[in-house]
Amino acid sequence: MNGEYFCVFCISVVSDLKILFVFIDGFGIGSADPAVNPLRDPRFPNLGKLLDGATPIDACLGVDGKPQSATGQASLLCGVNAAHAMGRHIEGFPPPSLKKLVEHENLFSKLRKLHKQPTFANSYWIDDPHKIPLRRQSVTTVMTLKALHGVRHKEELMNGMAVNHDITRWTMHTRGYDGPLIPEEEAAEHLLNVAAENDFTLFEYFMTDRAGHSGDPELVFQCMETLERFLPKVGTFGEEPNQLFLLCSDHGNIEDNTTTTHTKNPVPLVAVGAGAESFQSLENLTQITPAILRLYEAGSR
Ligand SMILES: [Zn+2]
Repeated sequence: MNGEYFCVFCISVVSDLKILFVFIDGFGIGSADPAVNPLRDPRFPNLGKLLDGATPIDACLGVDGKPQSATGQASLLCGVNAAHAMGRHIEGFPPPSLKKLVEHENLFSKLRKLHKQPTFANSYWIDDPHKIPLRRQSVTTVMTLKALHGVRHKEELMNGMAVNHDITRWTMHTRGYDGPLIPEEEAAEHLLNVAAENDFTLFEYFMTDRAGHSGDPELVFQCMETLERFLPKVGTFGEEPNQLFLLCSDHGNIEDNTTTTHTKNPVPLVAVGAGAESFQSLENLTQITPAILRLYEAGSR
């Protein structure tokens, strides 16, 4: 069975599956018009190609109002309709009731129950991996602490076994980092290093949402440029046998330069590699975690 891959009744069976999941905050599909949508700027052909091959995913989840980060990320990474459970879309950092849901339902814990090794590739600029500030914990931090009991920190970043959230480290100088900026391709290499050592690797990039809110065209351009260089290299992960590259978002924002708020646009789900066909018919954020778990379950039988 080692390395064998086949499809029976549309359920893929991939042995020794490894997944690399890049989560990009505030990154919708949006208009095809580059005057409105920076992702469609011809200076970023890789981003255009990425969108062309993506499955549109609903982020509104049948709940009134614009989708928000806390409930969107919880829905994406727990496989439940968190906006419906909370009665509204909740922005930013999860309040106690949503935090509890994330602690119980998150993908990392579910993977551990399947005896798989998940990891969060983002680094925290701290000395002790067990001591991160209790306030302002995002969904990914909550699930990492709950399921994995620690985060990647300074040492792992400097050893090429973690990636700073901004990819090139450009925001880190204000936090006491005095090293160089790194090229996107090098950061991608670091992410691939992490993914090679784990069954499931998650990386979160949220500058896109910040840039969208800022309405600053230079910051938007910088994010697009970073992703244009970073994603092709990390996407090569899906070209190896038994490996799957996934990319998704929690809601739209940066793809519409006529607003500085979130949008109701569908978000792109990109799936390349082993088992990718299992993701092509998905329709909303809550279906992604169950599809990931089904792939691992099928491969373990
Ligand atoms: Zn936002």
